[in-house]
Amino acid sequence: MPDLAFQQCVFPDCAARYDLLEVRTACDACGGLLDVAYDWERLPVPRRLADFEQKWGRRSEPACLSGVWRFHELLPFAPPETIVSVGEGQTLLRPAPKVAAYIDAHHQRTWLQFEGLNPSGSFKDNGMTAAFTHAALVGATSAACASTGNTSASLAMYAAASGANMRAIVFIGEGKIAYGKLSQALDYGALTLQIEGDFDDAMACVREVSAQAGVYLVNSVNPFRLEGQKTIMYRVLEGLRWRVPDWIVVPGGNLGNSSAFGKAFSELHCLGLIDRLPRLAVVNAAGADTLHRLVNERGVRFNSGRPPLEVIDAFYAEMDAENRRANTLASAIEINRPVNLIKCLRALEMCDGVVTRVTDQEILDAKAQVGAGGFGCEPASAASVAGARKLRKEGVIGGAEEVVCILTGHALKDPNVTVGYHMYQGEDFRKMFAARSVSSAPLANRPIGVKNDTEQIRKTIAETVKGQPRSGDSI
Ligand SMILES: *Cc1c(COP(=O)(O)O)cnc(C)c1O
Ligand SMILES: [Zn+2]
Repeated sequence: MPDLAFQQCVFPDCAARYDLLEVRTACDACGGLLDVAYDWERLPVPRRLADFEQKWGRRSEPACLSGVWRFHELLPFAPPETIVSVGEGQTLLRPAPKVAAYIDAHHQRTWLQFEGLNPSGSFKDNGMTAAFTHAALVGATSAACASTGNTSASLAMYAAASGANMRAIVFIGEGKIAYGKLSQALDYGALTLQIEGDFDDAMACVREVSAQAGVYLVNSVNPFRLEGQKTIMYRVLEGLRWRVPDWIVVPGGNLGNSSAFGKAFSELHCLGLIDRLPRLAVVNAAGADTLHRLVNERGVRFNSGRPPLEVIDAFYAEMDAENRRANTLASAIEINRPVNLIKCLRALEMCDGVVTRVTDQEILDAKAQVGAGGFGCEPASAASVAGARKLRKEGVIGGAEEVVCILTGHALKDPNVTVGYHMYQGEDFRKMFAARSVSSAPLANRPIGVKNDTEQIRKTIAETVKGQPRSGDSI
């Protein structure tokens, strides 16, 4: 069905179209990003979103089990029998009364979407299943990505577990990857290349190498990945019984997720499946705040398809001249040049969005709060909760509004930071965190050293159960 789905330049003034089976990450005519676009008039679209619930009863079919492909009619670029899936997207929207109290939002209208429950432990699987499906359609035999960790984990897992005949090649910045993620790439057998430099260096490198060597690129410049990531929003709506929340709050790194969310909602709206769009809040880490600076300090907007590219170029030139490099403990969003910037600006325009930034201290405190409420998340994910708290304080998010924070990755991805926050004190704490200006751990749950003596242990338990959790000192 080649002409029912195609690729199209993101800039309406260009709007160049490319065949679905072309492998490309940019428009030839103008260099813009590409969208996957559909001729919806000629495609079968459900009349009501609730119709998708019927697929729950057909979970023995891979395309119904997958929380991505259950929504196939909303990303119809591949015939169902060609789908590459490992059962991704079976994630949960959970009420979060403790987090609601922490961010001072409505206790019954605050939700967390746990995307860490995906097979490789992050939301990236939503996109990877779509990219692998496209890769299979075009007959690719090797796939590559640059990664702060989760994309490489997901790529490696799909290459190993999906039965796709695919060699995985991952490019990572040296010393810039959390061990949980690195361990996955290694364990799943990916060819792992450690590049001297950070994510942005690895990204530039993989773009060049994959173009030269005919390797399929699965970074989020790949428009098919974003099609899969749209389904995160479908599942949020499903979790809310198809009610549109007031806010979606998401961490911003390469801005693939925020871009995909905007596209998801605008398509649902055009198709008449929802009657309004939620507002979007994208949260940067203060140490990796390109989007924040461009939007809030330089006034950059999508501007109906004519964003001020010269302002963006000048910003990057300045960044290079000052040798300013991203630096945050939230390694998954430690990015200088977000590849989906233009699409994210479009999503902000569509969804009346806002951008904010939070410090590593705010991120780690929010992460501890998420953990204390159950399940937990990795540092970058907690930027959404820290950002919601800040926006709530500023009155941007109202006290009665319904808020969904996206938790992008699993708590076990980066145990070092978690253990550091809860256990380290004094000089050890400063050594681990001072470079990132984290000075305290108000929500630390410190282990208590006790002698191997049942009487002592009994007393300690009685004391701590009675009072506040005690910190630090050995007994
Ligand atoms: C990739 C990633 C992000 C950033 O998402 P973008 O789509 O690149 O903005 C945030 N959190 C986690 C855990 C990630 O793996
Ligand atoms: Zn173009």
